[in-house]
Amino acid sequence: RAKANGRGRVEMFDAALRAELEARARVEADIRAGLARGEFELHFQPVMTVAGGQLHSYEALIRWQHPERGLVPPNEFIPLAEESLLICEIGRWVLNSATKQLAAWTHADPRSHGGVTMAVNISARHLASRTLLDEVRHALGESGLEPTRLVLEITETVVLDEPTADAHLRELRALGVAVSLDDFGTGYTSIGQLQNLQVDTLKIDQSFLRSNDEATQALVQLMVTAAHAFRMDVVAEGVETQAQLDRLGEIGCELAQGYFLGRPRPARDIVVGGLSAASG
Ligand code: C2E
Ligand code: MG
Ligand code: MG
Ligand code: MG
Repeated sequence: RAKANGRGRVEMFDAALRAELEARARVEADIRAGLARGEFELHFQPVMTVAGGQLHSYEALIRWQHPERGLVPPNEFIPLAEESLLICEIGRWVLNSATKQLAAWTHADPRSHGGVTMAVNISARHLASRTLLDEVRHALGESGLEPTRLVLEITETVVLDEPTADAHLRELRALGVAVSLDDFGTGYTSIGQLQNLQVDTLKIDQSFLRSNDEATQALVQLMVTAAHAFRMDVVAEGVETQAQLDRLGEIGCELAQGYFLGRPRPARDIVVGGLSAASG
């Protein structure tokens, strides 16, 4: 009887595992079809200077315009895509579209957009892949953008866990591309480790702006001071109020991003040089 029970459990586990694998395969096939059908789109969120309120850069944020599910946010499909090489296909598409879009805006209004940069989120697996450098070169070549106009946003786990990440970041930076450390403060990187990383900009995670207590504010101050000591720029993420923006100015944080300064919007809603220059 015990034996039969054990066997039943194994079969149940087996069935659950199979269902899980099948569900996964279905979503993967769905993502692949979505890429082929052009269902993905980028929204662009501005990063502004704290002191002057000027446009500094955009961050490209992916969305999936799904035929049945509607607009699907990245947190609902990027983690799944990250479990396979699909994330590299998505990343390639994002690199090409984002550079093309910035080139279009620059062409539409060189005066306001000539110095603006474009940040693209790059997943760990993609950074570890041998082809990223060539893909970045390709995107820059096709769009005609200078390498210095492109910023790759990576997270702490990426830099510390992947043995090849450091080497790849060196190659990318040698090309002239900038690197930004996203969601800083949520992972395991200590402030001291920052000086050894191949990173140009620190993005302070939005969770630090949510709490108003003195300790958290001291932490933000500390991150800004350390980043500057290591010659890094600092962007505060998730700025939602004027008070938060004022506070950032006081502690010397020069760049900010958040709903208060601008929400992520599709290119067709962004007017540059009097026209909507969506690159399609
Ligand atoms: P992230 O790179 O840290 O992007 C910032 C997220 O915070 C975005 O969410 C943005 O819409 C949101 N945000 C910006 N300002 C505010 C604010 O003031 N308040 C609040 N509450 N939220 C704000 P989103 O677009 O849903 O993206 C979530 C995450 O998905 C991103 O976090 C990034 O890790 C990932 N992601 C987005 N696009 C891509 C992509 O093209 N490739 C990869 N690999 N990951 C992506
Ligand atoms: Mg980001
Ligand atoms: Mg972030
Ligand atoms: Mg994030």
